[in-house]
Amino acid sequence: MIPRVGNGIDVHPIEAGRDCRLAGLLWEGVDGCAGHSDGDVAAHALCDAMLSAAGLGDLGAVFGTGDPRWSGALGVELLAEVRRRITEAGFQLGNAAVQVICNLPKIGKRRDEAQRALSEAAGGPVAVAGTTTDGLGLTGRGEGIAAIATCLLIPV
Ligand code: MG
Repeated sequence: MIPRVGNGIDVHPIEAGRDCRLAGLLWEGVDGCAGHSDGDVAAHALCDAMLSAAGLGDLGAVFGTGDPRWSGALGVELLAEVRRRITEAGFQLGNAAVQVICNLPKIGKRRDEAQRALSEAAGGPVAVAGTTTDGLGLTGRGEGIAAIATCLLIPV
């Protein structure tokens, strides 16, 4: 087996008044994302990247929206399950990079905390970055939050 890369992307609509759970953290005073689970697009994108790299399909296949076990699940709980599955498949996370695209919250303010939360759940170093689209598109209009992730899995 050789190291394998994977990509993941996720987008959810913002829902006024919903807790904002993003990159493994609760962001007080910010509207969060709607979704079957907690709407943590950063964790979901990372899950998809890791599943893809390991050849284990995608988030929808592993955590089907019809499965009540994962209703309301935290992104870090999904990540921990993905970590278990990639371990079973003979891999560990070499490293990952996650970029969140939104106006709010400002990721840089809690970057270290977010990196710790995702790294702990994923079982390897995860870098977290934030950016905006300068007012363009669904994230720029504040309609949704997007995230993109890349990872490298190492065979063990
Ligand atoms: Mg999602």
